[in-house]
Amino acid sequence: MKKPNKLIKISHWPQGHNYAFSIRDDDLSYFTRPEQLDQIYSEAWKNKFIVSFATIPNHKASDTLNVPPSYRNKHTFHSINNNISLIEYIIDKNKLVDILQHGYSHIDKENKLSPFLNYDKKQLVTLQDKSVPFMHDSEFFNLNYIKTEDKISKGKQILEDAFKKSITVLVTPQEYISRNIFKAAYLNNMSICGGINKKSLLKIPFTQLKYNNLIMVLYNYFISRANKNIIYDLSNIAKNTLLLTTYRHYWNKYTERADSNYNYNKAIQIIKEKESIGGYFIMLNHYWEYYYDWEKDITNSLLHEYFNKILYFVNKNTNAWKCSISELSSWISLRQNIKISIKKNEITIDSPNKIKGLCLEHPPGYELSISEKEVIKCRSNKSIFNIDKGTTHVQYHK
Ligand SMILES: [Zn+2]
Repeated sequence: MKKPNKLIKISHWPQGHNYAFSIRDDDLSYFTRPEQLDQIYSEAWKNKFIVSFATIPNHKASDTLNVPPSYRNKHTFHSINNNISLIEYIIDKNKLVDILQHGYSHIDKENKLSPFLNYDKKQLVTLQDKSVPFMHDSEFFNLNYIKTEDKISKGKQILEDAFKKSITVLVTPQEYISRNIFKAAYLNNMSICGGINKKSLLKIPFTQLKYNNLIMVLYNYFISRANKNIIYDLSNIAKNTLLLTTYRHYWNKYTERADSNYNYNKAIQIIKEKESIGGYFIMLNHYWEYYYDWEKDITNSLLHEYFNKILYFVNKNTNAWKCSISELSSWISLRQNIKISIKKNEITIDSPNKIKGLCLEHPPGYELSISEKEVIKCRSNKSIFNIDKGTTHVQYHK
């Protein structure tokens, strides 16, 4: 039996939640109509899920499906600022939505992006034999540092002016990642969501690595093999938080009933796994995939049915922190800076920031107290409280 001291730790997530659950929708832009979002997300919003829209600041009207047919191939640029009704709609949704930056113009080159349209089946189709890797379509592909930084800072400014809030997370088109993107995102105080994998991690500039955390990740992964929550650990190896996309709710997984069931079960399996290890789940959507070529009403109804089914499962069967991706990223960095030490009957917590809803896990039967602060016990082994910047002393006793 471990000593109680060894069993006390700060939970990964606030308010005693077991894991974090976020929805990311890519490609919100000048072209998006509020009615499209209403049809997809009304149920999600009723249940207090937050949708983080990865928003294109100045979308280029290229020959791609995220541009409506009437604008396709015009090669003109369209600032989100010119879609007033969308901006008002988003601002009005308040805490149920979040804005992330999705590149600058999404595409620069004139090559066609997959998926394509299958006019016979009224469906989207992915071109299997695309000879050029998908990521080469990114507006950031092979771009030098000056131009990369320029696109990121200009795009951020457009979004901040439009939505009157600071933008802290970058999602690159096609999730393409380069050393220049890492550098520019850091300079602009932005976390990165998506495109984080073994190959892209090697592109983190040495000056941006947190070496202690990197060593800990390598140790946990290769030597102790104790920690299964590699995704959570990886988010802390660079000076700006790095978040992975954990599940892609793509149209091509939900075209037939049998496939839909299979893919739904796979999604549920990932959710259960994330909950068991205290990780996070980021679900990726593209609102335009729900509509065959920008029709008025949802055409890919299975995609929508199973989207709501997944959310229903999360609500009913799990203890999820329903958060935006900006909140998720900011929480991970706040949590990372907390230091905890335990002596006799006192726990000392040091934090450079004020934190709401901090949760301590401790052996059942223990009571925690902090002078002049309320401690809420959410389960026999979890207590929640707010801390101020600096040192907090917590007494614990049986
Ligand atoms: Zn995109």
